[in-house]
Amino acid sequence: MKLLLNALIFLVVTDSCSAFTSSNKFGITGGISSATELYARKPFISGNWKLNPQTRDEAVALGKEIASTITPDTPDIDIALFVPYVFIESTINAVDGKLMVGAEGVSPEQKGAFTGAVSSSMVKSIGVNWALAGHSERRTLFGESDEFINGQCLKLIDEGMSVMLCIGETLAEYEQDLAGAVCAVQLKKGLAGISKEQMTNVAIAYEPVWAIGTGKVATPEVAQDVHSKCRAIIKDMYDEDVADATRILYGGSVSPESVDELMSQPDIDGALVGGASLDGTKFGRIINYQPV
Ligand code: PEP
Repeated sequence: MKLLLNALIFLVVTDSCSAFTSSNKFGITGGISSATELYARKPFISGNWKLNPQTRDEAVALGKEIASTITPDTPDIDIALFVPYVFIESTINAVDGKLMVGAEGVSPEQKGAFTGAVSSSMVKSIGVNWALAGHSERRTLFGESDEFINGQCLKLIDEGMSVMLCIGETLAEYEQDLAGAVCAVQLKKGLAGISKEQMTNVAIAYEPVWAIGTGKVATPEVAQDVHSKCRAIIKDMYDEDVADATRILYGGSVSPESVDELMSQPDIDGALVGGASLDGTKFGRIINYQPV
């Protein structure tokens, strides 16, 4: 259904597509051969391990278990795991090229006296192409501001890497019907200075704070509504082509039970999964979702 919709969009705007690039399954950007590829937004299922698991051996075992759930029957999607820095290289080896391994964040600084920081070039040098920015836990627990997050996005893109910018409202904001307004501010501040062309290196994760780690997944209708608002904001900031091409993932207590319906919504292009990405069976079912 979604592919059909995207194909229709392609027919309408076919003239203006050639300037874009798309990213392939392994996140490598390159020229596209047809506009159909551009508007058929490739689904993107990703996991965020946060401060887990507790040892390298556990990370390797989990990476292998998740990789083993990817079979020839798995949909043609992008799959990534965002993992703690110290586990990146061993997880890359464990998954054996079956999925991408990204960083949970990078410093907006490139080098120098920033004790404890890790730069985009450092993670790039060990095979990372994607990093998160703006996760609500980083915003609230670590005080990362929109300006800091924007610096991370710019630095990653500068390095030729891709960024998944996380945005989302709190429960109080949701209850005051401010989800769209909060996302607009976070999108505009997070993406400041990023050009239309550079947007091919950006994915958005809409993660309502009230749904993260709470077991309270947004209904497909609520998520779809905010996703379509986010797409409209991106159209406003750039243009319709960029809005149509940008992947917007949903995050917040996604589970094997909720993924199929979420992934069936026209503006939901993937999922960012926390808790369930620590369980190989659950995350495997999420990767192998079945749109309804
Ligand atoms: C997250 O950490 O990005 C997240 C969505 O977590 P969870 O799936 O556990 O709600």
